[in-house]
Amino acid sequence: MALTYPLTNEAIFTQMVEWRRHFHRYPELSFQEVETPKYIAALLKDLGLDVREQVGGRGVVATLQGAGEGPTIAFRADFDALPIQEENNVAYASENPGVMHACGHDGHAAALLGTAHLLTEMKEELNGKVVFIFQHAEELTPGGAIAMVEDGCLDGVDVIFGAHVSSDLELGLYNVRSGAIMAAADAFSVEIQGKGGHGAKPHTTIDPITAGTSLVNDLQRIVSRRVDPIDQAVVSVCKFQSGNAFNVIPDTVSVAGTVRTFNKETRTQIERDIERIVSGIELTGDVTCSLTYTKGYPTVVNHEKETTIVKEVMKDKVGEAAVIERPPMMGAEDFAYYLENVPGTFIHVGAMTDDPDTQYPHHHPRFNFDERALGNIGTLFVSLAENYLK
Ligand SMILES: [Zn+2]
Ligand SMILES: [Zn+2]
Repeated sequence: MALTYPLTNEAIFTQMVEWRRHFHRYPELSFQEVETPKYIAALLKDLGLDVREQVGGRGVVATLQGAGEGPTIAFRADFDALPIQEENNVAYASENPGVMHACGHDGHAAALLGTAHLLTEMKEELNGKVVFIFQHAEELTPGGAIAMVEDGCLDGVDVIFGAHVSSDLELGLYNVRSGAIMAAADAFSVEIQGKGGHGAKPHTTIDPITAGTSLVNDLQRIVSRRVDPIDQAVVSVCKFQSGNAFNVIPDTVSVAGTVRTFNKETRTQIERDIERIVSGIELTGDVTCSLTYTKGYPTVVNHEKETTIVKEVMKDKVGEAAVIERPPMMGAEDFAYYLENVPGTFIHVGAMTDDPDTQYPHHHPRFNFDERALGNIGTLFVSLAENYLK
């Protein structure tokens, strides 16, 4: 695969890199973004765009009116960082202790700013509107997307696209797939209340540990026995806490885990199954259980028509071999909320090369990516705007 970035505007590309490094140097946590949205809004105002700030909390939305009438196309970039201490030794490393852009959202914001510049230069040739959605808080549920949608960021929008850099996809490649591509992610926790006592006199206690281990085992039957084998789902118990002495039966057990699904019905069914299993444990273990089931982001479902358009446009632009289709992922993304409201698609853009520094997984303290991916996101967005508005 040739390591090229097709974006031909060298000056804008250089600026994208500068913006990205600025965001990287000053990362802000989800729902605590102050300077990042201010910086973005100022640049968008300089372009003469119609800018709305504090959309759904901390989001920024800018609108570009083309010369003629036509449809409205939206692009979304997120801009929040993660509670991670950066371990990269780069000149633009994070200056905020314990906070790091370790998912590439710094790049998303920079690439969308570059796209806004490129499309503004072309506005006389565009028929319709472009809406640039800069979203806060993607990394933390309930996320910024749902609040921005409620605050009208999609009003009048006909179609929406989003992109994510990917450190496990080669630079130059675009992963474009129709249907469910990222999972719905829910969380559950169960507090089991028994009655503690002496380890030598179990009959005088209500043992929450045996009840808890039964619960963990029973939960394994959901995916293996209740979910259609053709469908995909995960139920993982990731926390089991109890007790602190070898001869004391404790009072309580705390169990928690995650549920990942692609199918809406499966998601609802698993939630009911967990409720049913927990009630069963109360009966068989003589314990009292309190279950909390928290719904996270829904499944990211790419719309077929728009996905096909992206494939055609990009095959034409960067060649057949650069547009690939990978299996769905169990990770989650609140871009799902936009796609529940308007048609569109979410694209993974390759950002990894032979350089080991570009190969760390997302959310790793050494995560970084090849910045030519910014140019590739710009190419993707500008090509789509041309397709819809020219
Ligand atoms: Zn992330
Ligand atoms: Zn991300």
